[in-house]
Amino acid sequence: MTHRYIFIAGGVMSGVGKGTVMAALGRELLNKGYSVTALKIDPYLNIDAGTMNPVEHGEVFVTVDGDETDQDIGNYERFLNTDIPSMNYMTTGRVYQTVIQKERNLEYGGKTVQVVPDVPNEVISRIERSAEQAKADFVLIEIGGTVGEYENILFLEAARLMRYAHPDDVRSIIVSYMPVPAAVGEMKTKPTQQAIRTMAGAGLTPDFVVARSAVVIDEPRRKKLSLFGNVREDYVIGSPDVSTIYEVPLVFEEQHFGDKVLSSFGLAPKTDASGEWREMVARIKSVEKPVRIGVIGKYFSTGSFTLSDAYISVIEAIKHASWDENLKPELVWLNSEEYEKNPETLKELEDLQGVVIPGGFGARGIEGKISAIRYCREHNIPYLGLCYGMQCAVIEYARNVLGLADAHTTEINADTPYPVIHLIPGQEGNVENNHYGGTMRLGSYPCRLTDGTRVRAAYGEPSVKERHRHRYEFNNDYRDQLENAGLVIAGVNPEQNLVEIVEIKNHPFFVGVQFHPEFQSRPLKPHPLFRAFINAAKTRSAG
Ligand code: GLN
Repeated sequence: MTHRYIFIAGGVMSGVGKGTVMAALGRELLNKGYSVTALKIDPYLNIDAGTMNPVEHGEVFVTVDGDETDQDIGNYERFLNTDIPSMNYMTTGRVYQTVIQKERNLEYGGKTVQVVPDVPNEVISRIERSAEQAKADFVLIEIGGTVGEYENILFLEAARLMRYAHPDDVRSIIVSYMPVPAAVGEMKTKPTQQAIRTMAGAGLTPDFVVARSAVVIDEPRRKKLSLFGNVREDYVIGSPDVSTIYEVPLVFEEQHFGDKVLSSFGLAPKTDASGEWREMVARIKSVEKPVRIGVIGKYFSTGSFTLSDAYISVIEAIKHASWDENLKPELVWLNSEEYEKNPETLKELEDLQGVVIPGGFGARGIEGKISAIRYCREHNIPYLGLCYGMQCAVIEYARNVLGLADAHTTEINADTPYPVIHLIPGQEGNVENNHYGGTMRLGSYPCRLTDGTRVRAAYGEPSVKERHRHRYEFNNDYRDQLENAGLVIAGVNPEQNLVEIVEIKNHPFFVGVQFHPEFQSRPLKPHPLFRAFINAAKTRSAG
């Protein structure tokens, strides 16, 4: 079959939402009856995102097949409503690693192996393999970073080579930022003109320009960009800020972005299946009654700024479930370290209708999380613990209900007298030998749910599959003791007998899961656990 490739590069600055633009265009093409897959290129030497600090790089998104990827893969999954495989994520490190390994295997047959063309060729072969695997009409490829950086030049070169070889099947788009400096009072196109020129210098003239800005780009500036950027005027697409990112496909549809992309390939829409998406956005925009949820983490601060990127899937999952319950999610970021410094601030949890503690690593802030969990347990505040949030709930229960003082996870205290959370059997060697990259328990695993539990009712099925990313786990040596003290083991992995879900009775909602349900929540398919949590939260009158 013929695959069509669309490369998306960024201009002016990062963080303007290239991933969202690409995912939204993908959704539009899907709605028009074409199959779509999406790839992300991260121009880092890291092999995967698993070793990058979430404050710097954002959330580590885990695929079904156990890859630790960029958060944009999550965006693609949410917009396209499909699982994206590991092969659709590449980093510079990954590409170089393959090229060097092939050289060691004599696969270049004695030739000199060169950065150009061997590295771009490896990029191309990865893209083509993904296209084949997905059997996709359209393959959207996001090149991370912005044009003009040394880091992504080889990826632009791959795009150029593909276009050179298949001019009819390859298009490129630049997503660029249009500032409106307060002192000037008008939208400026010059930075984007420069970015287009830089991209052209790499041999790749963009077919479309997506102008990201606070307000929609107006006529005079559209003309300017067209003239100086060498882009058709009707191929300059406005992408203003919107109240929900899920509206972006509709903003594009108003400008016939998808139709224009199709016609640039000589194609036309086959159908219009946008109804479901439109209804969802209409619902999102109509919800009024708030539900106030606190997210307790530590990856929020960078210098003087507060970012929530590290928890993007958790945040989206809370939103999906809230909208589904006709509620307007009000999210509050809470820093667990604050509860260590000033325990009296725990009282602020009273003002919330529910608390989520997402995944995490290391000692910083853990005691604050444990105190917050105790507060939620004792004050009947709905609580959902994800991964570290589940492990901390077990530690809290062991310490304060079972009376095992100093119970802990061996991640933090190797000498704890009560290691209620310990290394997953088989992980010892990885830690001893510093084999950290890609060695956690990753990807999708089955979990058998216990009859009569809250989660069994929420899921409505006896067995589920969820995505994991952890090295530590509930210690079965403490299972009987904890169960006798009232902790309910609500889900177990049948193959390894690992406890995956705990909950407690006589509480409006108190559930801890070893996995990350947030990775499987989609706006068109909210996750059952988040729905059950929000359902409990909405009945609590906070404050
Ligand atoms: N640090 C914990 C572990 O490795 C939890 C990981 C997580 O929350 N993703 O098991």
